[in-house]
Order: sequence, then structure tokens, then C-alpha cells
Amino acid sequence: MMKKILVTGGAGYIGSHTTLLLLQAGFDVLVLDNFCNSKPEALNRVSRLAGRSPHIIEGDIRNYDLLNQLFSDYSIDSVIHFAGLKAVGESVIKPLDYYDNNVLGSLTLLQAMAHANVTNIVFSSSATVYGDPQSVPISEDFPLSATNPYGASKLHIEVMLQDLCRADPNWRIAILRYFNPAGAHESGLIGEDPNGMPNNLMPFIAQVAVGNLKELSIFGNDFDTRDGTGVRDYIHVMDLAEGHLAALIALDHHKLITCNLGTGRGYSVLDMVRAFEVACGKQLPYRIVERRLGDIAESYTDPTHAKAMINWLPRRGLEDICIDHWRWQQMNPNGY
Ligand code: NAD
Ligand code: UDP
Repeated sequence: MMKKILVTGGAGYIGSHTTLLLLQAGFDVLVLDNFCNSKPEALNRVSRLAGRSPHIIEGDIRNYDLLNQLFSDYSIDSVIHFAGLKAVGESVIKPLDYYDNNVLGSLTLLQAMAHANVTNIVFSSSATVYGDPQSVPISEDFPLSATNPYGASKLHIEVMLQDLCRADPNWRIAILRYFNPAGAHESGLIGEDPNGMPNNLMPFIAQVAVGNLKELSIFGNDFDTRDGTGVRDYIHVMDLAEGHLAALIALDHHKLITCNLGTGRGYSVLDMVRAFEVACGKQLPYRIVERRLGDIAESYTDPTHAKAMINWLPRRGLEDICIDHWRWQQMNPNGY
């Protein structure tokens, strides 16, 4: 019998790529998504690529009765939990929405899991839990802090998961702290499709390249970095998806896994613009503007712990990220 995985938020950017890999690896997948930040078409494309479909339930992780029903209808082995809100700026304006969706949503999910005796979970955390790190590369034992409600929501959920693990030895929990997901599946059929104006760098650059947006605003060139622009660790979304499969497997041997998922390499905003220009064969207009509130200078991981814990290393580089992101954007200029 193939294992059955519940993927919350499985229609979203990272969730759709992970769902595809799970299906290709032979898992049965049940996706629970309320489509507040995604479209059902993403899952049609996933099914087309995999040659088989996930079960799809449209619903909310805050709905305890629905979750109970779901756990009793399907015999689920593990949960990969992506569902949540992720826009940092919006979280400052609407903090309660973030605590509701992310913290209450995760709590409700964990309660339903406990009730059903499903005690395996892989959780999407974020490098934002390191706040403004004192140095780079960032390893997992660095101090944690939150600089906005989104980050605080991730920290609260991490604490909840750790407490649960301590209280009940049956639980097996992987906390994955993603650095900056980018790129798309190499088919160009699935990718990131943000609602309205993109908040993140890569989708913004891609939409400038395809002509949807006039120019990129670079948020500051006076940081203490090589060229003054912010440095981040961009990780190919397919590498990230592979990290989830690796974590699932590693949970057979570990009760609590806390891992950074990144490449260990930092690229500046200008590095990203230049690499994307090569991939798309166009010059991309940009303007230097004020720093964005709360942005840090530099963030990249030390990947050695992830290698040791879950036996995972990213395989794709900056060029793959840009080529694949561009293919997706070109084939789908207006998203799904
Ligand atoms: P996404 O918005 O594309 O996907 C999230 C999915 O969850 C969407 O399909 C959305 O409709 C669904 N969803 C949201 N709230 C829900 C709810 N209450 N009930 C059911 N479904 C709900 O985001 P993503 O980029 O794929 O991110 C996935 C996870 O990874 C999130 O938890 C995010 O915080 C985390 N993360 C993302 C990044 C990033 O830069 N993309 C970085 C670090 C961590
Ligand atoms: N950035 C930028 N212009 C944009 C979006 C982002 O200059 O329109 C910069 C941002 O200041 C940061 C980097 O690009 O240095 C990555 O930003 P993103 O929002 O993608 O990720 P995060 O800030 O969460 O690491």
C-alpha cells in the first residue's frame, strides 16, 4: 500500500511542485486548499504532468469538523503543511488575519491530527525566524526572533510543534526553514502566480521581463554587501520540493528535525537582475529606490545540517532558476 499524504495548501506555489513530486514518487496525495491564494488550474496541470491526480478537497484548515471528517474518510500517514498566508507587508497591516490563518489554522490541524492519531508532519517555516542575523551563513542554532507578524506566526507554530514533540513521543515533526524559493517546474506548466502586484523579487523581475510591469524598483543600494543591494539565498522550487520528500523519509529515523533549506550561496538583487537578463535575452529596466522597511542586508544558509539530517542538497543553480522561471512566465504571461 502506498502511503497517503495530506498536503495542506497543495495548490500553492511550493505545494503544487511538491504534490507533483509526491505523485511521481508513487504516493497517494490528498490536497486541502481554500484557494485564497491559488487556482484549481495549478492542480489540473500537476495531474497532467504526473499522469495521475491528487484527491482535492476545497476547504479551510481552520475547519475542525472538516478535518475530522477528512481524517476519518482517508487513512492518512503524514501531513505536509503549507497552508497559510505569507505576505510580510500585509501581515503588518492585518496581524489578526495572520494569527488566525497561520497559528489558529495550524493549531486546528494539529488537534485534528492528534484526534485521528496521525502524528507525522512536515511544516513550512521560514528563514524569517532568524530576524536580522548577526552573521552569515545562518545555521539552525542561531537565535530566533520575529520582526513582523508573519514571522511571529511562524515562530509561534514552531514552538507549538516543539512542545508537542516533547509531550508525546509518538509525534514525528520536521520544521523546514525555507530561504528564498524561486524558479518553476522545468515543463513551464506550473510556477508562481502571485495575486496582483508581486511582493517578491523573482516574480517581479519575471513580470518586468514579460512586459506586464514597467520597471523593477530595487529597495536600496546602500546595504553592507558586495554591491550594496540585498543578498539572499535563492533556492529552486524543485529542490525545495525534493527537500520535503527527503524530510518525510528522514522522519523514519528522527523525532524532531529542524532544517534550513537553502543553497548556501548568496546573490544580490543586481546579481539576480543580470542572471535573469541572460536567461530572457533582454535588458531589464530598474530604478534604485528607498530601502523597504524591515529588510535585512544579507541572508544565506549553512547547508551542512540539512545534508546531515535529511540527506538533501540542492542540485540546481542560479541559471536553472532563471531559465525555468522565465519559461513559466513566458508560457503563462498572465499566470494560470
Ligand atoms: P502560496 O500562497 O502559493 O500557497 C499557500 C496555499 O495555502 C495557497 O494555495 C492558499 O490558497 C492556501 N491556504 C492559505 N490559507 C489557507 C487556509 N486557511 N486553509 C486552506 N488553505 C489555505 O505560498 P507558498 O509560497 O507556496 O508557501 C507555502 C508555505 O511556505 C507557506 O506556509 C509560506 O509561509 C511558507 N514559506 C514560503 C516562502 C516563499 O517565499 N514562498 C518562504 C518561506 C516560507
Ligand atoms: N527586492 C527588491 N525589489 C522588489 C522586491 C524585492 O529590491 O521589488 C529585494 C529585497 O529588498 C531583498 C530581495 O530583493 O533584498 C529579496 O526580496 P524578497 O521579497 O523576494 O524576499 P525576502 O525579503 O523575504 O528575503
